[in-house]
Amino acid sequence: MDNLPVELKGPLSGSSAPVVRPLIHDLSRSALQEWCQSHGLPGYRADQIRQWIFGKRVDAFEAMHDVPAAARKKLAEEFDFWAGRIVRHQVATDRTEKLLLALRQGDLVECVLMREPDRNTICVSTQVGCGMGCVFCASGLEGVKRNLSTGEILEQVLRVDRLLTKEERITNIVVMGMGEPLANLKNLLPALDTLHDKGGMGLGARRITISTVGLPEKMRELARHGTPYNLAVSLHAPENSLRTEIVPTNKGTGIEAILAAADDYFEITGRRVTYEYVLLAGKNDGPDQAKQLARLLRERIAHVNLIPMNPVAPIDLSAPAEPRTQMFAEMLEHGGVNVTVRKRKGADIDAACGQLRLTELTMGPA
Ligand code: SAH
Repeated sequence: MDNLPVELKGPLSGSSAPVVRPLIHDLSRSALQEWCQSHGLPGYRADQIRQWIFGKRVDAFEAMHDVPAAARKKLAEEFDFWAGRIVRHQVATDRTEKLLLALRQGDLVECVLMREPDRNTICVSTQVGCGMGCVFCASGLEGVKRNLSTGEILEQVLRVDRLLTKEERITNIVVMGMGEPLANLKNLLPALDTLHDKGGMGLGARRITISTVGLPEKMRELARHGTPYNLAVSLHAPENSLRTEIVPTNKGTGIEAILAAADDYFEITGRRVTYEYVLLAGKNDGPDQAKQLARLLRERIAHVNLIPMNPVAPIDLSAPAEPRTQMFAEMLEHGGVNVTVRKRKGADIDAACGQLRLTELTMGPA
């Protein structure tokens, strides 16, 4: 804990630690209904409470005015409304915003709000750290500490939602922050279902995208879940030896198994799979790789999202120059593959893709 920002050290250590109650956002709708019933309240109170949380952006039980005062008091006695608190809030010149949250156990996670004229997208984390160890990524530098709970995942969305003006709404969710989402599917799915649910945030399934390093069994589990969320697969290389060099988990998996699972995903859900490809200068950005990648994907209903690597201080890898990125994109296009180059957002506050990094934030002053 030595590197934590000063303000985190007090209340989270020693005997002055606050009482930790169950987190309200960890309760599913039916669990909240049960709670209401066991406290002599009609089941519809659960929807009313959820409406205050997801629709009316309150941040305390006592603000839920049409819930009887005794019930509000009981809720406050039994549950925490927030798992933690906002440690830092940064706003970039392009109006991208980043929150650093200290959640349960003082664990730090970041979430990002990206504004575009037609959409407000939030990027959420699913784990504290990451166990995948991709060589260019900041999140994996210190391994994975733990999975976030359903409520902690939701809390990121709720906190960001409360940064918006009355007229603004979150329109899209990308599960591309810290962690491997499919390694925490058990907690992630109830969170996404709540965001999708009409009584939650009411976001369409096609507005929610889950990015994975490529865990075939979990990809199939997600496909069978029944709600067709978008799936993005982090490919980063067109053949196994290079992919294993960049994405260590590829060793036990292999590109073929991942593509087969992605094909199943498309078959079962009808959703076109996106392949993410972080461009690393001199490693995976050459014409041979572009040709190989096109061969791999042109027969598929697929989309490639090229991401020029964002710099990560201790990592000795970088993005290729702009013309080389363009050349790679054009070669894919000529090879019959649908391609876009990802825009970089929030660079001046280190909120760009892959930069959500625990250690960096704990080293500097908050
Ligand atoms: N573990 C999941 C989701 C988190 S990473 C996954 O691997 O997909 C989300 C995306 O950001 C992935 O495509 C990842 O490869 C990319 N990314 C990570 N670090 C990056 C960096 N430094 N620059 C650009 N993209 C990065």
